[in-house]
Amino acid sequence: MTVSTTATIEVDSASGHLCAAGSGKRLDTVLIKTSSRCNIDCSYCYVYRGQDTKWRGLPKRMRHIVLDAVQHRLIEHAGRQRAGFAIVLHGGEPLLLEFGRLAAMLRNLRVRLCPERYPISVQTNGTLLNPRTLDLFAETQTTVSVSIDGPKEVNDLGRLDHRGRSTFAMTLRGIHRLLDHPACNTLFSGTLSVIQPNVSPASVYGFLRRLRTPSMDFLLQDGNHDRLPPGKKNFESTEYGQWLIKLIDLYLADPAPVPVRIIDDTIKLCLGGSSQKEGRGKDAYGILTIETDGEIRKNDTLRTSFDGADIFSGRWNVTSTDLASVLSSQEYIDSADMQIPTCDGCRRCQLLDVCGGGMPLYRWSAERSYDNPSVYCHDHAVFIRHVIDRLHGFGLKGFTEHANDSPNRSFRARPVIDRPVVSWIRSEADCQSEVQPNVS
Ligand code: SF4
Repeated sequence: MTVSTTATIEVDSASGHLCAAGSGKRLDTVLIKTSSRCNIDCSYCYVYRGQDTKWRGLPKRMRHIVLDAVQHRLIEHAGRQRAGFAIVLHGGEPLLLEFGRLAAMLRNLRVRLCPERYPISVQTNGTLLNPRTLDLFAETQTTVSVSIDGPKEVNDLGRLDHRGRSTFAMTLRGIHRLLDHPACNTLFSGTLSVIQPNVSPASVYGFLRRLRTPSMDFLLQDGNHDRLPPGKKNFESTEYGQWLIKLIDLYLADPAPVPVRIIDDTIKLCLGGSSQKEGRGKDAYGILTIETDGEIRKNDTLRTSFDGADIFSGRWNVTSTDLASVLSSQEYIDSADMQIPTCDGCRRCQLLDVCGGGMPLYRWSAERSYDNPSVYCHDHAVFIRHVIDRLHGFGLKGFTEHANDSPNRSFRARPVIDRPVVSWIRSEADCQSEVQPNVS
């Protein structure tokens, strides 16, 4: 999923505090929960296995009246906001929504909202993908990202069904249907994998490459200072950072890699560019979630902190409230500003421009709320330092060495690159070695 940035961290000259310039009021991504249930039962699910209990009281699927209101509010907001925004169908499993309702919503949205400014995507477990649904997605220019953690033995560590059975074959069938579809090149956006830190990154990377995914992304497992992420021994340990280091080394050694979002974003940020997604860098993103009952909520990953952490006190609903009103509320602005770390350690950290303090959910503790560094702080630090070292190996300097006068101006001029960033790095390194054969 690609989203545009809305705000950049600046230092307030009066208070000396970090703040998001122009934060609030702009929507970058809206998550539409077309279904509040899932047909599988992942062990690490932040919705059904976390702190949240509110999902139990929600309608299982979006009803007509809510779907109509969602479409109306999105189209209305597109008329009010100059910048486009991304629409992501999410769940639970979004494809549990009955086909007729899904088709009506996507067709109505696509008639009014062009794909260039309003990309629509689906994040799915892939088990329900079928030719009719894929034809609909092709018709409405809706892209598909499939969640899969690696080969069967890796995927089976977390992604089982409600009876504890493997879902791997069903997901693989969905991916092959995507790959075989005539519109595959525009339909299939890539895979999303949750990191299993005890598993070799080589087996996951090799599997996904053989699968012919057009891009990869990887998620850190949920956790915070009160509930450490699985596989992480303590705050200072770096299991996930070491995993990412092995991953980037595989990627940089790959003669024909595909984009890997978490790596590409980190490299771009190290070179003075921008990330494409929340959780890295100093840009803050405007994110809203719409639940199956139409309630407008904050970024839904916040629900891992405590039950109700993603709920606005106003309990706004698309059937009665427009998105602009929510976006201009102080409560929304405060929630968007949570992306900016407040703790002293992050504010003084040399790596803040790249790390961004990680996603707010990873900063939580009951004692200090979100006023902590990420529980992945040490993982971020070892990984980012390794990225900078690897960039040195290509003759490219990292952000800390060229804050005001970037030697990588051509990169800055193209902060978003559609091909894997490593392709750009190689061509840039070639150019530099032609001009400066002794660059060290
Ligand atoms: S590396 Fe740690 S201290 Fe630095 S910005 Fe990231 S979370 Fe904060």
